[in-house]
Amino acid sequence: MFDFESYHKAESVDEAIALLAQNPKSIPLAGGTDVLVRLHQHHQDYRHVVDIHGLKELKEISKNPNGVIRIGSGVTFTTLTEHPLITGNIPVLAQGASSVGGPQVRNVGTVGGNICNGAPSADSAAPLLILNATVVLKGTQGQREIPLHEFYQGPGKVDRMESEILTSIVIAPENYQCWFAKYHKYAMRDAMDIATIGCAGACNIEGGLVNQLRLAYTVAGPTPLRCWKTEQIAKGAKADESLLELVKSSVLKDLRPRDSWRASKDFRQHVIQTLAQRVLQAILNQCGEVKP
Ligand SMILES: Cc1cc2nc3c(=O)[nH]c(=O)nc-3n(C[C@H](O)[C@H](O)[C@H](O)COP(=O)(O)OP(=O)(O)OC[C@H]3O[C@@H](n4cnc5c(N)ncnc54)[C@H](O)[C@@H]3O)c2cc1C
Repeated sequence: MFDFESYHKAESVDEAIALLAQNPKSIPLAGGTDVLVRLHQHHQDYRHVVDIHGLKELKEISKNPNGVIRIGSGVTFTTLTEHPLITGNIPVLAQGASSVGGPQVRNVGTVGGNICNGAPSADSAAPLLILNATVVLKGTQGQREIPLHEFYQGPGKVDRMESEILTSIVIAPENYQCWFAKYHKYAMRDAMDIATIGCAGACNIEGGLVNQLRLAYTVAGPTPLRCWKTEQIAKGAKADESLLELVKSSVLKDLRPRDSWRASKDFRQHVIQTLAQRVLQAILNQCGEVKP
């Protein structure tokens, strides 16, 4: 059974913030696919719970007339996979969401929980990083908005104050319009498995040249990471097969994979380079620069 010491079901985000502020030991519970597993393992840090599961104000996905997409933190992976605003505008995020666990986990697990647990393996993280997503946090000090890559601080660590709720994730139109993108997850099994390496890429191409490349990885460092050096090197490069070699030769400089029981560092490095090439090949195929 679960060792709850306190449990409060919030009726609104504001009430959740007040409850979190009253008890600094308490944590939000969204889908519970991480929190309840930790509680089942008798983990001390998860015993005081503020339940935000099902709050309608966290479940919305919208696109305003300027093209800004806002995704509520309580949106589940199943919704991300199926929602027309996601599949029609930022399908790379639907690809990440559809690769999470199995249907049961996708039906309850939320994008907010995936980001806030700070896991280096979060499948929504690499797609959101290449979309230059920002996260919106609300707490007793008010509301703030920060780039996702700054929100990650270390393994399992994010820049969230005790009373704060991640309310939404925002993607500006210049970060998805005119971009081609792809997410690829490598795991030992095809389903119900955490990524050995996950890679998301996006390319903006003009006149056969790379105007901008964005590349992000999961499980290739202490947090999900962008490949800033490689992105710089790719600027202005030819958008053809030579790009695959260029990125392959640079990408390891941006990342810090390590040995674990899941995979050795050497194997991860090999997968990192292979996924960079696969993702880029898929992107070039999408924009018709390289035929399969
Ligand atoms: C069998 C199984 C398979 C899995 N497979 C994958 C996988 O393939 N890929 C993957 O990425 N993950 C996987 N996971 C991990 C998990 O499902 C995801 O990380 C999920 O997104 C967590 O979301 P949740 O809503 O369930 O979070 P919860 O468990 O409710 O919360 C997770 C953490 O985030 C905090 N939190 C949640 N929402 C908010 C918010 N709005 N504001 C502030 N803090 C918040 C909580 O306090 C907690 O610390 C798997 C889990 C299980 C049990």
